[in-house]
Amino acid sequence: MSSSIPRSVILLIENDPATAKAIQAALADSNTGPFDLEWVRQFSEGLERLSKKGIAAVLLDLSLPDSRGIETFDKLHTAAPDVPILILGGNVHEDLAKQAVERGAQDYLLPGHLDGYSLPRALRNAIERKAIEDALYVEKERAVVTLNSIGDAVLSTDIFGCITYLNLVAEAMTGWHREEAIGKPFDEVFRIIDGSTRKPARDPMEMAVEQNKAVGLTVNCILIRRDGFESAIEDSAAPIHDRAGRITGAVIVFHDVSAARAMSLQMTHSAQHDLVTNLPNRLLLKDRITQSIALARRQNRPIAVIFLDLDRFKYINDSLGHAAGDKLLQSVSKRLVAGVRGSDTVSRQGGDEFVILLSGIANPGDAATSAKHILLSLSTPHSIGGQDLHIDGSMGISIYPEDGEDAETLIKNADTAMYYAKETGRNNFQFFRAEMNRAAVERQTLEGSMRRAIEREEFLLHYQPKVNLDTGEITGAEALIRWQQLDRGIVPPSQFVPIAEDCGLILPIGRWVLRTACRQARAWQDTGLPPLPIAVNISAVEFRDKGFVEGVRTILSETGLEARYLELELTEGVLMEDAKSTAAVLQDLKMMGVRLAVDDFGTGYSSLSYLRQFPIDTLKIDQSFVRQITSNPDDSAIVSAIINMAKSLKHLVIAEGIETREQRAYLQTQRCAEGQGYLFSQPLAAAQFAQLLRMA
Ligand code: C2E
Ligand code: MG
Ligand code: MG
Repeated sequence: MSSSIPRSVILLIENDPATAKAIQAALADSNTGPFDLEWVRQFSEGLERLSKKGIAAVLLDLSLPDSRGIETFDKLHTAAPDVPILILGGNVHEDLAKQAVERGAQDYLLPGHLDGYSLPRALRNAIERKAIEDALYVEKERAVVTLNSIGDAVLSTDIFGCITYLNLVAEAMTGWHREEAIGKPFDEVFRIIDGSTRKPARDPMEMAVEQNKAVGLTVNCILIRRDGFESAIEDSAAPIHDRAGRITGAVIVFHDVSAARAMSLQMTHSAQHDLVTNLPNRLLLKDRITQSIALARRQNRPIAVIFLDLDRFKYINDSLGHAAGDKLLQSVSKRLVAGVRGSDTVSRQGGDEFVILLSGIANPGDAATSAKHILLSLSTPHSIGGQDLHIDGSMGISIYPEDGEDAETLIKNADTAMYYAKETGRNNFQFFRAEMNRAAVERQTLEGSMRRAIEREEFLLHYQPKVNLDTGEITGAEALIRWQQLDRGIVPPSQFVPIAEDCGLILPIGRWVLRTACRQARAWQDTGLPPLPIAVNISAVEFRDKGFVEGVRTILSETGLEARYLELELTEGVLMEDAKSTAAVLQDLKMMGVRLAVDDFGTGYSSLSYLRQFPIDTLKIDQSFVRQITSNPDDSAIVSAIINMAKSLKHLVIAEGIETREQRAYLQTQRCAEGQGYLFSQPLAAAQFAQLLRMA
């Protein structure tokens, strides 16, 4: 007798004392126990005792004084479903006992089995079996609840590939009820196809069983529900083993990824498209060009890339607001898309820039036709917020393979060509030419070397005398910048000043010019030469710079030159650009004592009323008039008019670019006081200029 086995209370419900006695005896001398027997004779007594718990098993006779037949068992079993019941078959027919077993009784005992060996064994077995059943039930319940409560669908098969189980999610997703599905071939219930080919996908169960390990499902897998509805799924399958390690079937776990897949498609779309116009963005465009190039190479065909920039879009955007700007961009993109073939790509690069890929052209001429077509389609007014907006575009075209063999080069060269189109008057298109790039490259190199030119002291000033036309006496000098490059010789200002203005380098360069010219003028005075005003050219960028007036003041005090010996030459354009602030700056300079001249007079659009208000000392008649005075009567009339006007404004008049004695003579007849030009002297290096002064 093992002490680990607990004592079990057995309830005997039996009206026959002889049987009860036999049972009592059998349990008493058993060594299987230990059992404590409680005996009642009535069914009702038995029920009452059972309700008090603590009963390990019941021995039940089916013919009791107060209950007989199968319902005796049923009532008892219902009252205590957890307690194992054994039927005593002594007084009843064996069939009735069997019936009870079918309904949940653990066993039945014939009178011959009520001995000290058989009875305790039967009881012990019944108690243990019931405990195992209960445990299994709990285990199974737990599994079922788990499987039904997880979000994934679970489905299992036997070794023959027939369905053995589906959880609730699997039922919903396949459209099959468990009862119908069980026993059906797996692929009838779980119909999957490859989303891209729409061919049946590989059977994951088969794969898992074949490879005897967990496998993932085909990517892009689609499950077809019983009613034909399709959902994107993601899943894995694994083999099921028995205790010996043999495969007995497989289990597949899957879930719906339709939403996730739609989201990722949407994300790919927005990563590749422009938000405002929904056109492909530069990323997708590059892809398309690359694909198109691959095809064109095989078919030995050209393709064209058109870079389009809207003219004056910024102006519309600034004045009407971003919402209107966006609407205009949308309207433009609609026209562009409508104007090209379905196989072409219209993309937005950002801002007001679009790139169009023409993949089906036969020759560059086709691209020109498309470009014209696009310009025309854009030119019809765009109706935005009840307003008719006009917008033009400038376009550059590059052709594969001549202008580039990859997307990046083609786009870049089309962009360069577009830039040229803008320069040549907007609303037109230009084909890319190799020299466009060369110019750009040259310009960049120039910028780079210009930056270093100041430190390397490559700049120098030449001085050109201004003379009194009647006496020939030198009345002043104009400082003109030169760039002495080691390898290129002397570069004239027309080749680098505009670029220096563009990139801002004109500010340090201009300050260097001003300082050098003032220092030189002062140095000449210090060597005893007669004091002369020195003229320095000031570009618009310098003049508009906030620190300009202070810069002039500083340089004058640094170099010790009196302000009255400095003259600043400004063009008409500079003066007229912003007349109000110009007047203020000129006033400051005038207060300082600096002289002011209008350079290239007659070429700009001066408003006389403004000119009258500005504290100007000198008007310099542009050389283009002077050049023609002796050949063209119209020009001579203009020059006379300018000279007279200048006099009426009480300004000193000086004529530029005098090359001949005739020109000088004519100007003298018109009472022009001073002149400047090759007739008197070329611009000279400082030393030579000093010599010229000494000779005078
Ligand atoms: P500008 O101020 O009108 O200078 C007069 C230009 O005419 C100078 O050209 C001068 O060499 C040239 N010239 C003088 N006499 C004659 C002549 O008889 N016939 C002809 N055909 N030309 C003559 P340069 O030195 O090449 O300067 C060109 C322009 O570059 C200047 O026009 C001026 O606008 C600008 N510039 C020159 N130096 C500077 C500077 O230091 N700073 C700035 N911002 N601009 C400068
Ligand atoms: Mg000048
Ligand atoms: Mg000039």
